[in-house]
Amino acid sequence: MAVITPQLFVDTLRRVLPTHPGGIALHQPEFAGNERAYVTDCLDTGWVSSVGAYVDRFERMLEEICGVSHAVAVVNGTAALHVALLLAGVRNGDEVLVPALTFVATANAVRQAGAVPHFVDSDPTRLGLAPDALADWLTRIVETTDNGPRNRQTGRRIAALVPMHAFGHPVDMDALLRVAARFDLPVVEDAAESLGSQYHQRPCGSFGRLAAISFNGNKIVTTGGGGAILTNDAALAVRAKHLTTTAKLPHRWEFVHDEPAFNYRLPNLNAALGCAQLEQLDHMLTRKRHLAQLYQAAFAEVEGVAVIAEPADSSSNYWLNTLVLDQTAEPLRDALLEAAHAAGIQVRPAWRPLHLLAMHADCPRAPLPVAEALGRRLLNLPSSAELGGQAKP
Ligand SMILES: *Cc1c(COP(=O)(O)O)cnc(C)c1O
Repeated sequence: MAVITPQLFVDTLRRVLPTHPGGIALHQPEFAGNERAYVTDCLDTGWVSSVGAYVDRFERMLEEICGVSHAVAVVNGTAALHVALLLAGVRNGDEVLVPALTFVATANAVRQAGAVPHFVDSDPTRLGLAPDALADWLTRIVETTDNGPRNRQTGRRIAALVPMHAFGHPVDMDALLRVAARFDLPVVEDAAESLGSQYHQRPCGSFGRLAAISFNGNKIVTTGGGGAILTNDAALAVRAKHLTTTAKLPHRWEFVHDEPAFNYRLPNLNAALGCAQLEQLDHMLTRKRHLAQLYQAAFAEVEGVAVIAEPADSSSNYWLNTLVLDQTAEPLRDALLEAAHAAGIQVRPAWRPLHLLAMHADCPRAPLPVAEALGRRLLNLPSSAELGGQAKP
């Protein structure tokens, strides 16, 4: 075994990656199926905007794939999370438990709902929320009131728990659901990155009272921009549709709206792209999982780093392959990033943990040793599906 150096890092990446004159992006969309046909169909029929058959079809496909009874397509993943939080009962002045190690949108959605993010720690191997640390922390700070759990340090109600499946790797959902039940917390899954991932053979996004998915351009499949709210609760699904479509009362001609609401509709044009993309999800997953194996084999021979692998009880979509540096390799991080970029290979550090951003510095938080260490030690590797094999002709 050879110890990691910037040169060895680039050589190892090159053993896995094809040579590409333009360099290798972190993640690129691929349009190898019916995308053009479906989008052209929208243009030809004039159904490009806020209603249309592709929106319904996209929602039904998502229900099938995600194993839920209801999917509501919306304009992006952040909007999906915003409305999911509101429907879970989050109100102005509440706190919402979120991982410190997540994309900033998780906390933005909490703020949009008028609540305050309360950061909790991660598990070192799954990267998502750590159930035991969460239970210990809540035991210390929560007092139970008639109004639900309250943070005795801030006096605010704690209104929801938001696990996020980081880079596609499922959190330990059973353990987190037990903690949530014990403290009477509704669970809203931030499944933005985990379309196609499974925990105990069940799709991510099907565990919480509600879940949010993203179809941004860099996610495993894309609608250009888009998202969806998932739930098994029929009443919540009706509310989700109503709130995201300006709260218009159905009527043949009357034009009446019954509450302040949002225009979070996914245009038919975007849904058309999404239908074609979902048709190829399985093929995307096969190649992304193959790419993960290639990275794991290549880096197994390099000391000081490890590629994050799916937990034994789960199947990951490997949205972004992730390298973790050990303590001795951590000081090399910036040199590794420099070397990869100089070689035209886009490698990126994980998100800076959110409590370290100035705008969230005053938010309540648990001790966050794991999130802080991971924030310094994770690198995302190029992970487009095409790097794991050919698109279907
Ligand atoms: C992408 C993402 C979102 C937000 O989705 P958008 O469609 O970009 O608004 C939310 N949470 C996580 C963890 C994400 O990765």
